[in-house]
Parts: sequence; C-alpha cells; structure tokens
Amino acid sequence: MQEASALACGIGFLAVKRILNFIDGQFRPACSGQSLPNVNPATGQVIAEIAESGPEDVDAAVAAASRAFASWHRTPAEERSRLLIRVADLIEENFEELARLESEDTGKPIALARRVDVPRAVRNFRFFATAILHSETPCHMTDDRALNYTIRHPLGVAGLISPWNLPLYLLSWKIAPAIAAGNCCVAKPSELTPLTADRLAALTLEAGIPPGVVNVVHGPGGSAGRALTSHPNVPLISFTGGTKTGADVMACAGPLFKKVSLELGGKNPNIVFADADLDEAVATSIQSSFANQGEICLCGSRLFVEKPIYDQFLERFLEGTRKLRIGDPQDASTDVGALISEAHLRKVEGYVALAREEGGRILIGGKRPENLPEPVRDGYFLEPTVITGLDCRGRVMQEEIFGPVVTVTPFESPEEAIAQANGTRYGLSASLWTRDLQKAHRIAAALESGTVWVNTWLLRDLRVPFGGMKESGLGREGGFASLEFFTEAKNVCVKL
Ligand code: NAD
Repeated sequence: MQEASALACGIGFLAVKRILNFIDGQFRPACSGQSLPNVNPATGQVIAEIAESGPEDVDAAVAAASRAFASWHRTPAEERSRLLIRVADLIEENFEELARLESEDTGKPIALARRVDVPRAVRNFRFFATAILHSETPCHMTDDRALNYTIRHPLGVAGLISPWNLPLYLLSWKIAPAIAAGNCCVAKPSELTPLTADRLAALTLEAGIPPGVVNVVHGPGGSAGRALTSHPNVPLISFTGGTKTGADVMACAGPLFKKVSLELGGKNPNIVFADADLDEAVATSIQSSFANQGEICLCGSRLFVEKPIYDQFLERFLEGTRKLRIGDPQDASTDVGALISEAHLRKVEGYVALAREEGGRILIGGKRPENLPEPVRDGYFLEPTVITGLDCRGRVMQEEIFGPVVTVTPFESPEEAIAQANGTRYGLSASLWTRDLQKAHRIAAALESGTVWVNTWLLRDLRVPFGGMKESGLGREGGFASLEFFTEAKNVCVKL
C-alpha cells in the first residue's frame, strides 16, 4: 500500500517520496500535475514531493465522499466501531515507522513522537470507536400528550483541516469522530507535514474502511484548504490552525451556513504561587514552555511567578532549561528538536529581537545553537529562550510566538495574576500551581480559558470538552462534544 502512496521519484541525485492525494481509495497526483517540496526541518533536505492540489482535486474528493456516504451512514455502529478499532491496531503495528516519519517531517524529537503523537492517534481511534457504542439521545413526555425524542444524523461530507505541529495526533482527532459518527471526510493536512497523513490514509484502506469514506487532499491552504471551506457540498468544517486563518475559514464557511469548529492559537499563562510544590512546578514548567520546541498550542508561553519565590523559581527554571539537550530529533535522547521551517525560525527570532527593543532581558537562548553535528548542522534550531523584564501589554507578551520562547513576570497578588493572565485576546489554556485548593478553584473560575490545569499541564482526558475562549476558537471538541459536533439533532414529536 505504501508503495502506491509514496512513489519514489528522482530530484537531482536525491530519491524522494511522492505524496499523492488519496481519493476514493486510490492514490493519485494532483489534477494540475504540480507538486510542492517537503523539507525535513532538522536537515533542510527535501524528503518528499507532495501533490499541489486545488479546487478540482477537492471536487473529486468531495464527490467520492458524497457517494460513499450513501452506504457508510447506514453501516451499523458496531461495524463502524470494528473498522476504527482495526485502524487503531494498524497504527500500533506501524508505531515505529509513524514515529520516525512524524519526527522527520516536523523536526520534533522522536522520543516525543513515541511518547505523545503516535499513542494519542491510537487512543483517538479507540476512543471514538467505542464512544459510539455507548451514546444515547434524550427522550421525554410532554404532559402525557406527546412523546419527544431526538435523533442525531451525520451531516455528510466533513472538511477536516489540520496544522503541522501535531500532524497525526490532530488529524486522527478529527477523522476518528467524523467517520465514527457516520460522516465521510475530506482531510487537508498541513502542506508542511504530509507524511503521516499519507500513511494513515493507507492504513484506513488496509483496515477495510470503504473507499471514499476517508479522503486526503494535500496542498496549500490558500487553494486546497479554501476550496474545502467554500465547497457547497461540505456542510461541516473542523479547523485547527492559526487565529488569522480561522477568520478566513469563517469568512468562507459563514455565508454557506456550514457548521464550523475552530481550534485556534493561544498565549497561555502559567501561574506559579509561592505555596506551590516547587520541584513539580519547575519541572513541568520547563516542559510546558519548551516541549515540541514550544510549538504546541497549549504551551505556557507566559510564566507568572509570585514575588516571594520569583528569584528562587527563576534560578531553578534556568538551571533545568540549560540541561535540555538540543539536537538531532532522530536521537532518542534529544529534548528539543528543530522548528518547522526556516520562515518560522526567522519569525521566532524576530520576536526575540523585538523583546530586546521592548526592554526585555534575554537570560538564556535567543540564538541558533552552535556546533550541531552532521546531519543536522543546517537545521532550523533555536535554543530554548527565557525573557524577563517585559511589559505585559507589549507585542511579545500579547502575540502568539509558537516557538521555544517563554517570558517570566513576577506578580504580587492573585488579582494581579488573574488580570495579567486574562490580559490577551487569546483564551485557550492556563496552568496554575498552588497547594491551596480553595484558591485554585477560585482562580480557575476567574480565568478566561477553555482549559485550566491545576498543578499539572497537558493531562488530557479525551472525554472533556476541549476548545478555546475569545480568539482561541469557537465550539468544543472532545468526547461527546465531538460526536455532537459531527452530527445534527432532530426532534421527533409524536402526539399520543
Ligand atoms: P495555519 O493556520 O497556517 O494552517 C493550518 C491549516 O490550515 C493548514 O492545513 C493550512 O494549509 C490550512 N490553511 C491555511 N490557509 C487556509 C485558508 N485560507 N483556508 C483554509 N485552510 C487554510 O496554522 P499552522 O501554522 O499550520 O499551525 C499553527 C497554528 O495552529 C498556531 O496558531 C497554533 O496555536 C494553532 N493550533 C491550535 C490548536 C488548538 O487545538 N487550538 C492545536 C494546534 C495548533
């Protein structure tokens, strides 16, 4: 199957994979015949050519999905469940290959892909495969005069658009509930990270999911992505990506009255009170600042520390950060890998320069690491960077940087911490650290944030509603919230 999806082709002296679209159970090139280079950010080398798709490809995928929907939505839930569990099993069987592909494609440490990305893709399929066997709809009597019950229908073709930072994790988070609920889908992964989406497409076929139920169209957001968000036969869009792109998705989908879910950017606060368990708070804050090179929407990029422990915390935080090993993502001992692209590296470096202009102090990092070994000497690496002395209203503390950069700011009272934490246009997630649970509940309630972690970070239970407030998103996914999103409720009222 893999041979079909990734044909080898010669570019210069390098043999690279050709990543094709997956439409109606077949791998095919873009209608335009054009392709885009796909770069390994740790080496700067082109590792694949991907189909550069546009509206014609999306049309073909939507047509295939519409045809498949006629029988897929009538397939019994038990059978859909069995097929999704088979996909999960196949992801497990191909675990190492998927971890390696994810690491090569994104620059993330392979240890992280093994610990987080691939296991979570398995869980996503198992979770929704079993959730559909345990969901029910409400039913009630109206004064002995009528019986009201609710039916939930899948909508048809779901458009699923995902970013580059957690490619398999987030794509499977969309595909699994969409098809479990009886929809067919057209997925548009990030053009920067097509490799695991391509493998997943092949695995769905191997699992026995009928052709057309899952389609994958590769290519740029402005052409392939937009063709999906403005397609009249795609009634539902689940989008994860940047806030600015989210606005364009809404602008396209709004006039067509599509159901839209938006999971967008963040500028998440991480608040450490003086009574926190310092060992845990320091160790986890290093993770929440720099895991996946800071390229996780949930990273705590603004660290606020209560004055009495500020110096002590900062010293230990810097000491731990200095120990992070930066280097070849394929090395199992690497903690910090490469940023996704040269353009993104420049953007993050631009924010470091801006921090200096805004009066900040770069305590560590802020530059590309020296003496990296072959083969990663020319990769897009940046040292973990810690900045203090910034005004919370400045651009560096207001805008999403999405890199290994964290700001640290002291605070004097819970009220000040809440005001600083809520003082951005984002509202995705927050962490707070304290041994006083009453205080924790009070502050959690006051934070404008879709998720609040108390004395932890990134502890994810797939049942909980997940999403952002303010400009971090619209709607909730996760658990039954996903199954609700991917279905439409119908009330049936029977007069007795
Ligand atoms: P992006 O918005 O540039 O791209 C996301 C996806 O949208 C890609 O597949 C891209 O090709 C596509 N796209 C781009 N323009 C489009 C358009 N006009 N119409 C339709 N599709 C279009 O985001 P990115 O740079 O890939 O990812 C980083 C962003 O994603 C960050 O802001 C991060 O916070 C956010 N993110 C959010 C979550 C969350 O759950 N809230 C999770 C991961 C990442």
